[in-house]
Amino acid sequence: MKEDSTKLKNEVDMIKDMLTFIDASVDSEALNDYTIRYTKQYIPEDILAEREERVYVQEELIKKYSSSLICIRVNYPGVIKNDYVSIGIMKILCDMVIREFRNHILYKKFNITAEGPIFTLVVDELAMDIKNRTVGIEENHPLGRFVDIDVYDKYNRSLSRKDLGLDRRSCYICDNYAHICVRQRQHSEKEIKDFIKNSYKSFL
Ligand SMILES: [Zn+2]
Repeated sequence: MKEDSTKLKNEVDMIKDMLTFIDASVDSEALNDYTIRYTKQYIPEDILAEREERVYVQEELIKKYSSSLICIRVNYPGVIKNDYVSIGIMKILCDMVIREFRNHILYKKFNITAEGPIFTLVVDELAMDIKNRTVGIEENHPLGRFVDIDVYDKYNRSLSRKDLGLDRRSCYICDNYAHICVRQRQHSEKEIKDFIKNSYKSFL
């Protein structure tokens, strides 16, 4: 039990670091909220419901700022999407993306949800340029293949790799198309999570 509580404390510290890094000020009430969401046992229905809510919030943000929106999620299998690996990967990639768009960020928010850690930014740049640069991060950063960076234009249209003339993403385990491996359940949840965890650890 002692070990568990130390582990949780370290993980909450990680979340706190992340929040401080993004928002500069974090009160204990907010941190408590994040901790509750981090430790919550979600069920698949929660993932669907929170996805629906996310889509709604994104739409409202795009309307409010009339600008492009970026949504970063860790591509993590299974129902438990919040752990030190997904949070750790998110922190590293958020840092990259903030540096990439630093003078053009109109809004940013980090959240912990049933879908896992999510980072949302509204950026005052053309969506096509943003997509080009975020695909670059997905392709070139050692942990970039473990995140989905969705980009929407100011009309709430999602940009795809195809819009840039690029091929679909390949699976990081076997090099097939990723969507085919997902559809056919080619790799077990454990195999995928172990692969991500090992890549994360060797990156650190
Ligand atoms: Zn595969």
